[in-house]
Amino acid sequence: SAKRGRHRAVDLGVDLESDAAVSSLLRPGGAQEAADKNLLDIHLMPQSSSETGEIVGAEALIRYRDSERGMQALPSSFIPALEDMGEIAAIDFFALSKACETVARWQREGRKTIPLAVNFSRRTIGDEGFVERVAQTVASHGVDRSFIEIEITESAREEDKTLLRTVAEGLRALGFRVAIDDFGVDNANFQLFIQLEFDVLKIDKSLVWGLGTEDRTMQVICGLVNLCTGLGIETVAEGIETDEQYRALREAGCTRAQGYLIGRPQPIGEFERGFLDA
Ligand code: C2E
Ligand code: MG
Ligand code: MG
Ligand code: MG
Repeated sequence: SAKRGRHRAVDLGVDLESDAAVSSLLRPGGAQEAADKNLLDIHLMPQSSSETGEIVGAEALIRYRDSERGMQALPSSFIPALEDMGEIAAIDFFALSKACETVARWQREGRKTIPLAVNFSRRTIGDEGFVERVAQTVASHGVDRSFIEIEITESAREEDKTLLRTVAEGLRALGFRVAIDDFGVDNANFQLFIQLEFDVLKIDKSLVWGLGTEDRTMQVICGLVNLCTGLGIETVAEGIETDEQYRALREAGCTRAQGYLIGRPQPIGEFERGFLDA
């Protein structure tokens, strides 16, 4: 919608036209080069405890800056292409390294330290030695694995399900938390709960945005949260933009809230001043 379009422009502080901004990123080897040249960065988006309102975590979201053009691009303008090119792993591991670097620094500085969630593409989790590479990256920063949550989106393809199961098991065995991202719209397969053990379910914003106008949505979300609670799975509601949505999610028993109402994705320094130093 127009409203969401405006939000995005505000986030970036610039007007972007993605094609031009991401052209150098989308050359072969461009993602790794961008990582090496520091053209990539993560922004942090806070997650609050629905019970106490306290900030209990944050999601790391990749950002790309084309310095020549002074433009910044959102992930939706380059992630699908990099996935197709087979180059998304460079992005995912850059985000993981930055997240680890940040947690390690918080601990060193004696700051309040919260877990960070990092997104991994399905392409990346299928790479040979993926779990080992994650463990090694985190270990190289001296970060405790319980501070890193791995977000993966479920896929409908049968071979992807088998892969997800193997990877989730491997990660959890090492002490990482595993979150299933974007649940509720394209991805809403109840086999997930039977076949997979995981720690966190992220309820997609499109479900959350249906709240209030139809109370059937509320009933469905309550049912989903109850299902998760019974299985020992934490729930994170994404896309909380209004007090009404926040209230409803709290009432439903959802564990954590994430959305513009709690805080926008923002540069790490800003996040620290706004949410950790207070
Ligand atoms: P996601 O993992 O589902 O991340 C949440 C997205 O929803 C973020 O968009 C966030 O800004 C947006 N969002 C959260 N709450 C609200 C809200 O209240 N209102 C609105 N309008 N939007 C909200 P973003 O940063 O554009 O990221 C989009 C997607 O790009 C992410 O969706 C994730 O799938 C992907 N992504 C981001 N970073 C990475 C990465 O390092 N690796 C991979 N593979 N994917 C990434
Ligand atoms: Mg995510
Ligand atoms: Mg996602
Ligand atoms: Mg999501």
